[in-house]
Amino acid sequence: MHFLDAFAQQVARQPEAPALWAHGQWYTYAELAARAGDIQAQLQALPVLPPRIGVLTGDDMSTYAALLAILGLGCAYVPVNAHHPAERNAAILEDAELTLLLATRPEAARQAIPPAHYRAVLPLTAGTSRASAFVHKPAAPEQLAYILFTSGSTGRPKGVPISHGNLQTFLAAVADPAVYALEPRDRFLQMFDLTFDLSVYSWLLPLTLGASTCVLPEDGISYLHIAELLEECQLTVALMVPSVLAYLQPYLEELELPHLRLSLFCGEALPHATTLAWSRCIPHARIENVYGPTEATIFCLRYVWQAERSAAESVNGIVPIGRPLPGTYAYVADAAGQPLPAGTPGELCLLGAQVSTGYWHNPQKTAAAFFATQWAGVQQQAYRTGDEAYVNIQGDFIYTGRIDNQVKIDGYRVELGEIEHHARTFTGLAQVAAVAAPVANGNMTLHLFLENYTADTGPLKAHLAAQLPPYMQPRQIHKLDKLPLNVNGKIDRKALAQRIA
Ligand code: AMP
Repeated sequence: MHFLDAFAQQVARQPEAPALWAHGQWYTYAELAARAGDIQAQLQALPVLPPRIGVLTGDDMSTYAALLAILGLGCAYVPVNAHHPAERNAAILEDAELTLLLATRPEAARQAIPPAHYRAVLPLTAGTSRASAFVHKPAAPEQLAYILFTSGSTGRPKGVPISHGNLQTFLAAVADPAVYALEPRDRFLQMFDLTFDLSVYSWLLPLTLGASTCVLPEDGISYLHIAELLEECQLTVALMVPSVLAYLQPYLEELELPHLRLSLFCGEALPHATTLAWSRCIPHARIENVYGPTEATIFCLRYVWQAERSAAESVNGIVPIGRPLPGTYAYVADAAGQPLPAGTPGELCLLGAQVSTGYWHNPQKTAAAFFATQWAGVQQQAYRTGDEAYVNIQGDFIYTGRIDNQVKIDGYRVELGEIEHHARTFTGLAQVAAVAAPVANGNMTLHLFLENYTADTGPLKAHLAAQLPPYMQPRQIHKLDKLPLNVNGKIDRKALAQRIA
């Protein structure tokens, strides 16, 4: 069943059941659907309904109702974060050709994006008139559901369009009772910014199952709040990034979460040692390491963690990423794209119905990363992930790192080239290098190295703050007479990272 039909069915079947918790308040399925219906009525009253609609990210019920409203009308949503720099947001609006933004806080939308880049902001007011029913038009598989913009190495974020077919394949795979046995009594943690695709698992999946989602408040967010929310709302399902565990480490001794029954980690390499410490807080939960890039819709490989077996199967302390979900195929390829035998490391390639058609309006980047090929007797869309992996003796995929300069900072994807592009443009220097290095708790932080830069770094910092989202800004800028080079004459990032350690 299509995910919008599933949501509508839950609204009809159990209108008074809790659907969403936000700002300390529960909203029922009927309330959420009515709010979405009201927003749809506002949208349908416009002279022209745009095919893609921007949504200013927020942690309130109306923002989630807006996402449902947009999807129900057969349009695609494009999330925009008010805390990200205006110029970056403007580039996203231009690229996605957005004319309309929906925002609970219209003034924040106007501040976050220069008005020259859109025609209108539609305010999402808090009330629910219940005057208009939620509409959901039948959606063709190729119809766009959302576009998410991720870090781009050339300095401009790149758009990943995800279709209803991509999303439906993912939701059907994870809703399969044989996979996760999710139930209407389940309460999901939603801790992700809506620009991050893991949010879609956390808010949309529960609403198709008659379950509920609890939205972590945006303001004053601290990692301890996550633990508090898990406890207070007696959450049963939590998808998190492994970085959260590093921040929770000092509290793990006292933390007890008996209600949690499914604890998924995605977005970064999962260390076995911290998982073991976490497992003691959640005696009734199954833990899984799930893997996937935005380009292949949320996640598409999974590995069930188990203390003893996983201790033996982890490599360099990192938990395997496991095997594909139904509908996805994976193999390891050499530099020429040819499949490699088990045990041999190479680039992880993903195929199947979760894989996007390619980057939004970017044929060059699409050609470099996406291709179509025959697999399992049918033509499949395929994606080169840039991740290095191999298949172990049990048949599980082992993640060993990146083959390029993409890193993760608290789960957020960062192309070091994007930071370097902005640093180079501002300073006029040829030799700059952004480097990710671990901090005491094991998480990564960003540093920027400049060769032979004599000026004060204050203005450069201000420039980077105006161009890059907070998680992409270097914590420290270092000035060196000369950047070290490796044997190939390239900047030696490993040597730079060691300088920080
Ligand atoms: P994103 O598109 O932001 O979800 O980032 C996708 C990238 O995150 C992947 O290509 C991997 O490099 C990394 N990633 C996602 N899940 C995992 C995992 N379970 N283990 C290791 N790396 C992961």
